[in-house]
Amino acid sequence: MKPINARLNQLPPAILHKFLELATDPTILSLSVGEPDFPTPFHVRQAAIDAIQEGKTFYTPSRGLMSMRKEIANVMARKYHLTYDPATEIIVTFGASEALEATFITLLNPGDEVILVTPVYVTYEPILIMAGATVVHVPTDHTTGFKLTPDALRQAITDKTKLIVLNYPNNPTGGIMTHKDYEGIAEVLRETDAYIVSDEIYSELIYDAQHASIAQFEDLKSRTVVINGFSKAYAMTGWRLGYLCANAELVNAIGKYHSNAILCPPTISQFAGIEALKNGDEDIKHMREEYDIRRRYVVDRLNKMGLPCAIPQGAFYAFPSIEATGMDSLTFCQQLLDKKRVAVIPGIAFGAAGDRYIRFSYSYSIKHIEEALDRIEAFMSELSTKV
Ligand code: PMP
Repeated sequence: MKPINARLNQLPPAILHKFLELATDPTILSLSVGEPDFPTPFHVRQAAIDAIQEGKTFYTPSRGLMSMRKEIANVMARKYHLTYDPATEIIVTFGASEALEATFITLLNPGDEVILVTPVYVTYEPILIMAGATVVHVPTDHTTGFKLTPDALRQAITDKTKLIVLNYPNNPTGGIMTHKDYEGIAEVLRETDAYIVSDEIYSELIYDAQHASIAQFEDLKSRTVVINGFSKAYAMTGWRLGYLCANAELVNAIGKYHSNAILCPPTISQFAGIEALKNGDEDIKHMREEYDIRRRYVVDRLNKMGLPCAIPQGAFYAFPSIEATGMDSLTFCQQLLDKKRVAVIPGIAFGAAGDRYIRFSYSYSIKHIEEALDRIEAFMSELSTKV
């Protein structure tokens, strides 16, 4: 056989996927999966059923139904004060995942440098490597609430920097950036002409603050691609629906790749998505309130059992430090799994900067979380009696 793409050998090991697979083992209590435990709201499912019954089963325009793009433009304006033209500045995608892929492939040439803020969501780096880019990591930690600082960003920028990827609220840390936090970052970004990708998929899961976007800085908006989707806000992971917003020139370029890669986003999902955008605010509120209760409970207990954890401001992850145990994250998670049958994700899965932490998803019922925490507590006290 002829050799396949050599870049595949450069991909980081798929640690997250290994731990996610354990979630399907009924003897293991998993806190590893990053998806809402709520089903998609009923009225959203009904909209899809209606679409099927009315025979709306054909391809749509590759950038998505115009009615869908109009709803996206409405939401972007209403919630985030960002104006995008539905005719020229929005693409509906196959999940936020495809928006990321299409953007990376379109913007990058081999050898371009891309800045990632670590700990980082796991799928960026593999796609960037496949695109031939060179990844530059900017580490963050709990002492700054996992926020990107202007100095750290400035140090990472070179004349080869083509793209900076931001993800707030953040998976895996739960960190956020406020508009004020972004002011210093915006100044640094003005010193370069790099593109910006802002993955805002958790924008609706933010607890004590207002969501901010780097695209709200008018002079940066034209080189920023804002990516969002339905998986987290509306509990729609299986519908594979997302979108990107950018200026017309960028959308034209990304649209060329996107239309060849997927022809169009799933039609039935788009009808569900329109309903979610139009009438889903109450659902979001309800789910956010539930996550908030769990968030407080989880953080309180983790801190009490010797796993220090600042309260996450967004998403549905707690990212406590395991430094006091003296273990690396893989050893900690493997032992917890072997001894207590609980699966959490080792922070190393999100890059070297994550190795002092574990990711704990609280998108599970309180009962499930309580049982898992009881076991982790027992694990921690056994550790401390050994020392
Ligand atoms: N970005 C981040 C930060 C995510 O956590 C996820 C899902 N885990 C995605 C993108 C992909 O979302 P989608 O389901 O819309 O493809």
